[in-house]
Amino acid sequence: MSRSDLLARHREVMPGWMSLYYEEPVEIVSGRGRHVTDADGNTYLDFFAGILTNAVGYDIPEISDAIRARVDSGVLHTSTLYLIRQQVELAERIAELSGMSRPKVFFTNSGTEANETALMLATQRRRSNQVLALRNSYHGRAFATVGITGNRSWSASALSPVKVSYVHGGYRYRSPFRNLSDADYVRACVEDLREVIETTTAGDVACMIVEPIQGVGGFATPPDGLFGAFAEVLDEYGILLVSDEVQTGWGRTGEHFWGIQAHGVVPSAMTFAKGLANGMAIGGLVAEAELMDCLTANSLSTFGGNPVSTAAATATLEYLLDHDLQGNAARLGARLLAGLRTHAEGSALVGDVRGKGLMIGVELVRPGSAEPAPEAAGRVLELARQRGLLVGKGGLHGNVLRLAPPMTLTEEEAAEALAVLTDVLTTAEKELR
Ligand code: PLP
Repeated sequence: MSRSDLLARHREVMPGWMSLYYEEPVEIVSGRGRHVTDADGNTYLDFFAGILTNAVGYDIPEISDAIRARVDSGVLHTSTLYLIRQQVELAERIAELSGMSRPKVFFTNSGTEANETALMLATQRRRSNQVLALRNSYHGRAFATVGITGNRSWSASALSPVKVSYVHGGYRYRSPFRNLSDADYVRACVEDLREVIETTTAGDVACMIVEPIQGVGGFATPPDGLFGAFAEVLDEYGILLVSDEVQTGWGRTGEHFWGIQAHGVVPSAMTFAKGLANGMAIGGLVAEAELMDCLTANSLSTFGGNPVSTAAATATLEYLLDHDLQGNAARLGARLLAGLRTHAEGSALVGDVRGKGLMIGVELVRPGSAEPAPEAAGRVLELARQRGLLVGKGGLHGNVLRLAPPMTLTEEEAAEALAVLTDVLTTAEKELR
């Protein structure tokens, strides 16, 4: 069956809002290291790590063996009504890494469910459904999470069970505070936070949820310390801070294991998913016991923390730590960032280069203006694909290239990707003029 037949069937049977990359979408059939191969035999360097899911790359024996061992055990007994050794061991490991004083862990199947759980706990605890979120944020696609999404292209808030007020501090490049120094930007956002609490809420806010670097929002990166300054205000009002680490956890941002650590604050809860099991479905949250245990009703997730996903997660986590992939992300990320910033100096197409570690956003604008250039982002994606490089895109206007390769990236691969990217950015800019 040809790829065009498969695409026609996809369009027939699957929803139109499940958009695919490329006019002629690719079908990935295998992978090794940082490379994937499509059904036509083309090999690509994957600079989006699946969708930040394949944190350490493809075909890693330690992880495949851990998954295989569970499957070969013959008992794919899946029920959270019984003790699951792999689940307890993984929870202990994550609790240890959390930096919290009395951490407890709950597993789900996705980032959405992890955030829904955090919101459920915080709103139950305060007996209030008022929360705070950042403008341009994305936290998932279920009722509460889609309801608080602060990004027009992903939101569907009509019937949200949660009341949300939005605060500045996510997407600086297109905010009214864009031209302020870091220190003044932090001050302006803190003032905004206080004003939003005082004027748009009844004062009974359950929690504030933030992405340390906005993922879907185009890898928008706030200055270090911002959320620590927020936490001081939140404390005054008894508001809990929840850090959505779905994209920023596990050392991807280089300097820190959790993205929020750049802000000098330990939140009451951190949610996670994506890269934890290198592609297997798992999510969850780690929270202070006081919050985690505030629920009096029963609650469980049938598949959350199942033996296969938790075994894959433990193997992935050990691999990440044993190979110091956080350090690798810091080193190679700094090189990529510097190379892209150098290119941006001579480019009218690149409006902003931002990010940390292996989470880098390149915002494209119409040459000669600050207007978003989503068509250029689409063109760069296609040109890069033709050169054997897969990158992501996103942002409020769909005009941001998102670079997030597996954290096992090598120096040679980083140099190769940088060369391809600067070439295709130059070509796309010429085409636009
Ligand atoms: N939170 C963030 C920051 C995300 O980027 C995403 C997904 O992209 C989610 C939550 C939702 O995760 P999932 O798609 O696993 O439900």
